[in-house]
Amino acid sequence: MSNRTWACIECGKTYRRHQSIESVRCAICRNPCEYVHWKIHVPSPKKRKVWEKFWQAYKIEKQLLADYYKNGRKGELRLEILSMHFHGSDS
Ligand SMILES: [Zn+2]
Repeated sequence: MSNRTWACIECGKTYRRHQSIESVRCAICRNPCEYVHWKIHVPSPKKRKVWEKFWQAYKIEKQLLADYYKNGRKGELRLEILSMHFHGSDS
């Protein structure tokens, strides 16, 4: 069974939900949460600096991935957190 880890970055709360669930709102602040695949190691929110750095990097990778698809998957793309590696469609 595949799950996702949802997180409220502001509150430092994580929620584990089945992957069929499409959106999760934080139980504390009611804001929409971000999610990652359950296999991705999310640092403890108690380590605030590490936590924030992780989500910052994650958002950058998510944006890079969106841009990559939008641009027709040209060139190489390596994403550390998402553990994805693309070689490009035109090579
Ligand atoms: Zn929250």
